[in-house]
Amino acid sequence: MAGFKYAAPRELDEALQLMASAQQPRPLAGGTDIVDQLKTGRRTADLVIEMKRIPQMQRFDVEADGLHIGAARSCTDIRSHPEVPARYAALYEAAGLIGSVQIQNRAALGGNICNAAPSADTAPALLVLDARAVVASSKGARLVELDRFFKGPGQTILEKGELLTGIFVPTPAARSASTYLRFIPRNEMDIAIAGVGCYLEIESSGLVKRARIALAAVAPTPIRARIAELALEGREISDALIEAAAEAAVSAARPISDVRGSAEYRKDLVRVLTRRTLQACVQRINAGERAS
Ligand SMILES: Cc1cc2nc3c(=O)[nH]c(=O)nc-3n(C[C@H](O)[C@H](O)[C@H](O)COP(=O)(O)OP(=O)(O)OC[C@H]3O[C@@H](n4cnc5c(N)ncnc54)[C@H](O)[C@@H]3O)c2cc1C
Repeated sequence: MAGFKYAAPRELDEALQLMASAQQPRPLAGGTDIVDQLKTGRRTADLVIEMKRIPQMQRFDVEADGLHIGAARSCTDIRSHPEVPARYAALYEAAGLIGSVQIQNRAALGGNICNAAPSADTAPALLVLDARAVVASSKGARLVELDRFFKGPGQTILEKGELLTGIFVPTPAARSASTYLRFIPRNEMDIAIAGVGCYLEIESSGLVKRARIALAAVAPTPIRARIAELALEGREISDALIEAAAEAAVSAARPISDVRGSAEYRKDLVRVLTRRTLQACVQRINAGERAS
């Protein structure tokens, strides 16, 4: 591994100053992506900056407006919070699929997002939950819709000197549910050949008020399948509507063929996973209605 300096600031301001002054700074959260990338020369750095000791990066608050998670919070932290499974099910499920227990103990939500892999499991979950990225630099802070955060494989909109400090997820509406499913060839410890996140809001009349569908590993970035969302909104939920939306989601996918699977196989997975995630959301909304 090429040499670099290492800093472990305890204040956000200090981290932002370091980000602004170093030639090639690299934030490090859990290190499950970046350490290997530095070892193999896929990324270089003159300064590696630890994120986990900064209080803002460790925020975890469920407030009236929604969930505020610091960028360095681990998948295990997300899985352990009592409010997350019911309200933010897609995120809970995605965090529980990443690597192994050991990886989840280290891997941060911010690391998964900033690594910007098309297959990142938390990305579709956060996209369907309408999440925003909280971005800071020594010049100030800005809120970015997660939908605009990814630019390409390994590339985000973060500019020189900027850090992701956290993720904000608004409180989901009543009569809503979310879920995330992926397909991997093994039982665990593999990355998605395709992944689908889904959020549905259904009125008591059965009309779909809002639908959000997001896809992983079938385009250069995680993407929303807006054409499938439009196929659902304003219509009465039914098996036929779900089938039509699953078909529409396929048309949003732009997969490549690689060692993990062909483009055709990935499209087929998008159809199946979209159908299953939509069905799961409907079941959850119906179960919530019965319980209340
Ligand atoms: C064995 C194994 C299995 C895995 N399985 C999966 C899987 O199933 N699904 C999946 O999605 N991923 C998987 N991964 C990839 C990885 O674990 C995740 O992407 C993880 O969430 C990365 O988080 P981290 O905290 O370790 O990131 P790091 O490695 O610390 O950082 C990742 C990137 O984000 C940048 N970064 C970190 N924090 C910030 C910040 N606050 N602001 C700006 N940039 C920042 C870093 O500079 C780096 O470029 C796996 C990795 C391994 C080694």
